[in-house]
Amino acid sequence: MVMQVCDLPIPKKIRLAVKHEQTQKTIIKINGVSIGGDQVAIMAGPCSVENEEQMLQAARAVKAAGAQILRGGAFKPRTLPYSFQGLGKEGLELLAEARDETGLPIITEVMSTEDVELVEAYTDILQIGARNMQNFSLLKKVGRSNKPVMLKRGMSATFNEWLGCAEYILSEGNTDVILCERGIRTFEQITRNTLDISAAPIIHQISHLPVIIDPSHGTGTRSLVEPMAKAAIAAGADGVMIEVHPNPEEALCDGGQSLSPEEFMHVMTGIKPIISAVNRRL
Ligand code: PEP
Ligand code: MN
Repeated sequence: MVMQVCDLPIPKKIRLAVKHEQTQKTIIKINGVSIGGDQVAIMAGPCSVENEEQMLQAARAVKAAGAQILRGGAFKPRTLPYSFQGLGKEGLELLAEARDETGLPIITEVMSTEDVELVEAYTDILQIGARNMQNFSLLKKVGRSNKPVMLKRGMSATFNEWLGCAEYILSEGNTDVILCERGIRTFEQITRNTLDISAAPIIHQISHLPVIIDPSHGTGTRSLVEPMAKAAIAAGADGVMIEVHPNPEEALCDGGQSLSPEEFMHVMTGIKPIISAVNRRL
């Protein structure tokens, strides 16, 4: 059974994630930053937390450029078991240290149900990665957390499947769900993924939940991050997530899509007129 939300076909059983009982936009407030209101949230930082110096340098750089939320992976979902898997608890401690110094709230990924208590003790926002979008036991567990959850779109997930996963979190009682488009797999080979900018207007028509767009994983290519961040904001995204590394050439993960502090500063300058043009603010 499908119902029409605006002119889009949505399964009738999705109740909480769609504009049905709730029509007002969900606005999530974290330490003075609001996601889903008139602010455009900029989440930035390294793909992975590597060491204290790297994390603090990245945190200072993104803060100086105007980001409001600091990202960094302590538990990394890597394609091969031989690649750097993240620092785990030590990475969470370094993130917390960077938050203490800069005042920026943090977002980091939790990959398994057994780590939810640990990660939620440190982070301000729990991230569910693309590869875990349909890990239903993980979704149920973070649905019982009192921390906001950012749910990334699976690399081959439809909008309705993605919304179904948001429904898992919401149905456990956690109302603070953020959706994050990070590109989907298509036949294209030049880019790492095909960034589906239509996620912003489509999700906003169907759902009250905020939408963040990640042009770093969405393209896999440093030079494409700025134009796609601009496009995301122009299309109505509630924020963007951008990977920034003090020295991208030496990054242990995703260096090719990571921006240097100077490049990130350039992006922040470049998006300001777009933010004003859509009547929003940083
Ligand atoms: C990330 O943001 O660190 C990440 C691994 O992204 P994704 O789950 O979108 O691949
Ligand atoms: Mn990454």
